[in-house]
Amino acid sequence: MFSTRLFRFVLFVFSYLLVNSFVSAEHIGVNGGVIAVKLPNGATEAEFNDENQLIVRGHAIVAIPHEAEAKKHKLIVSFEDGSFQAVDFEVQSKEYEEQHITIENQDYVTPPEETIKRRQEEAAMMREAYARRSPAIEDILPIVMPVEGQVTGVFGTKRFFNGEQRNYHTGVDYAAPTGTPISAPAPGTVVVTHDMYFNGNTVVIDHGSGFVSVMCHLDEIEVEKDSQLKRGDVIGTVGSTGRSTGPHLHWTISLQGTKIDPEMFMEVVNGLDDSSDDEAP
Ligand SMILES: [Zn+2]
Repeated sequence: MFSTRLFRFVLFVFSYLLVNSFVSAEHIGVNGGVIAVKLPNGATEAEFNDENQLIVRGHAIVAIPHEAEAKKHKLIVSFEDGSFQAVDFEVQSKEYEEQHITIENQDYVTPPEETIKRRQEEAAMMREAYARRSPAIEDILPIVMPVEGQVTGVFGTKRFFNGEQRNYHTGVDYAAPTGTPISAPAPGTVVVTHDMYFNGNTVVIDHGSGFVSVMCHLDEIEVEKDSQLKRGDVIGTVGSTGRSTGPHLHWTISLQGTKIDPEMFMEVVNGLDDSSDDEAP
């Protein structure tokens, strides 16, 4: 005589939750992460964060800022005929770990006054690179590893240098011996080659559609500004220039100015490479 009313009520609550909390797995991401949202037929652009997102194989590659709020967000998809459609996606909160680093040269923790002008010029150079929105490159996939090395620093960690908190870690670090070749992860154009205060010898590659790679701490830079790169072309070698505790490559990926986890980006976009069977025949 277990109440049918209770049973109905439970069924109601369950179905309500199912309908209202269901977000397709491809539409769930984390702050600092990236998701691929399959676009409806006829879609031409997909906007989030006031920016058209990178489109690869019929998917919007949505770059989620490190500081994004954990809630539902909207991707605004536009169509050839001028109409729009909102696609919901959910950002779940990711807590990043702390990383404590000891730097012998205190000038890399609290830079001296006389380096202000240099650092401001470098910051402007980087802002300009991140603001680039070049036309899309056709054969962007696959994204290949720029170096063979071991991950020694993951994206997003809260970083402390000699106990003082600084910016979160904006890329991924791969340790490798000095002189190990570094290659272009995808085709693109070299837009910056510069010896930077913190980043050391740096190469910035514009891969089109607001997708930019930054390679830091190089021992030698082997390309020039405006060089056109094919996937796998060598751009320089691993070193330990700038604020670095040993030879490694630091790789930042920015999509429309949003820095995202390169390892997650590779997994997400390379996973689309064999998705041609989803397409209409
Ligand atoms: Zn790094």
